[in-house]
Amino acid sequence: MNAVVAPVANAGCVDAPVLYERGQREVFCGLTGIVWLHRKIQDAFFLVVGSRTCAHLLQSAAGVMIFAEPRFATAVIEERDLAGLADANSELDRVVTRLIERRPDIRLLFLVGSCPSEVIKLDLDRAATRLSQSFAPRVRIRAWSGSGLDTTFTQGEDACLAALVPDMPATEADAPPSLLVVGALAEVVEDQMARLFAEIGIERVRFFPPRRSDDLPPVGPGTRLLLAQPFLAETARLLEKRGATRLTAPFPLGVEGTAGWFGAAARAFGVDEARFDAAIAPRAERARTALARHRERLAGKSLFFFPDSQLEVPLARFAARELGMRLVEVGTPYLHRGHLAAELALLPPGTMLSEGQNVDNQLDRCRAAQPDLTVCGLGLANPLEAEGLATKWSIELLFTPVHGFEQAADLAELFARPLVRRSRLKV
Ligand code: SF4
Repeated sequence: MNAVVAPVANAGCVDAPVLYERGQREVFCGLTGIVWLHRKIQDAFFLVVGSRTCAHLLQSAAGVMIFAEPRFATAVIEERDLAGLADANSELDRVVTRLIERRPDIRLLFLVGSCPSEVIKLDLDRAATRLSQSFAPRVRIRAWSGSGLDTTFTQGEDACLAALVPDMPATEADAPPSLLVVGALAEVVEDQMARLFAEIGIERVRFFPPRRSDDLPPVGPGTRLLLAQPFLAETARLLEKRGATRLTAPFPLGVEGTAGWFGAAARAFGVDEARFDAAIAPRAERARTALARHRERLAGKSLFFFPDSQLEVPLARFAARELGMRLVEVGTPYLHRGHLAAELALLPPGTMLSEGQNVDNQLDRCRAAQPDLTVCGLGLANPLEAEGLATKWSIELLFTPVHGFEQAADLAELFARPLVRRSRLKV
C-alpha cells in the first residue's frame, strides 16, 4: 500500500518524555458536545439537568442554531438540601413527562448531568432507568454527565457514546468481520468515507453514533473498531469489552493521517494492495495539491498548542509533516498513548509534549516563545490576541468538517486564516 505511511515502532515521539502539568484549567465543559451531537443523532433530545450557568453556556455555544428545531433544553435545578431531593426527582419526572407529551418525535432522551452540587446529589442514572420504564418502548432515556469538573469539552461526546454502548445489539455468532467507525463526523464526511470503503472493497461498515437512535450498529468479536476521534477512551474501552478489536491507526486528519487510517482498515480486511492504491492515490494527490497553497504560507511558522480539544497530537502531526510548521509545544489534556501510538510515531522527534493544564505556566512558555500561531480555547484567545499573538480557537475544529481527504485543504486553511487576517490588518 504505497499510499500509506506505516508508523514505525519507537519512531517519532513514541517514547518521548512528557511534561505533566497540574493546576488551573481554562476549558469548556462536556455540555459543549451537545452542540454537534444534536445534529448527528437526529431524533435525540438533550435535557441538561443543571443551573442557569449551564443554560447560558448552551444558549451562547449553540446560538447559531436559532433557526433549527430546538433539540436541547435545560431543566434548572435550584439549590436545595438533601431533604429536597425527593422533590427534585419528582420535578424531573414532571419535566420529562411534559416534554415527551409535547414532542412525539423524540425517540431517545438524554438526561445530561452537570457540575453544580445540587445536580451531583441527584442520581441521574437511576432517574433514567425509572423514566425509561415509564416511557418504553416509545422513548429510551439514558444519562451521561457533561460536568466541567476534571473534564474537557470533547469528553461530553465520549460520555454520550459510552451511555449508548450497552444498547448496541450483539453481532450474530457467525457474523463475518465488520468495521465500526466510532466518533461523530459531519454527514458529508461520513458519506465520502462510506463510498471510499465500498470502493476498496470493505462492505460491512457502520458508523457510531448513528443518525437515527434506533439504528444502533451491532458489536461483537467480529467487530473491528476504527476511531475517528482521539477523545473516545471510555467508549472504546466499553466496545472492546464487548469483543471489538481496535485497529491501530493515525486519525483521518490531513492526507497522511487519512491514508494511514484507511490503510489500517484495509490491512485488517485483507484488501488487495493494487485496489487500495487505485482508490486512495488519486484522492491523496488531489488533496495534496489543494493544500499546497496553504503550505506555502505556513511552512516554517511556529505553532503552540494549549491543551483543549484532545485533537492536539493529530493536528500537530498534520501541521508539522504536511504544512511544514515548527512545533513549539503540543499540549493536550490527556495523552492516551494507546490510542495515539500511530500519531506519536509520526511526530517529529524532539517535539515538546505536555499533558494536563497549568494555564499560568503554559502562558509563560507561550509568551516566551512568541509563536506565529497559537491554538487554544476561547477563553485564552482574546487575551493572547490583545498581546499581539495570532490564535485559532480549537473548538472550531470540532464544528467544522475537517476529516478525510476532501477536507484536508479546509483543515490547512483553518491554520492559515488567522495569519492571513493579521497580514491584512498590518497593510
Ligand atoms: S456543567 Fe458546570 S462547567 Fe458546564 S456550564 Fe454547567 S456549571 Fe458550568
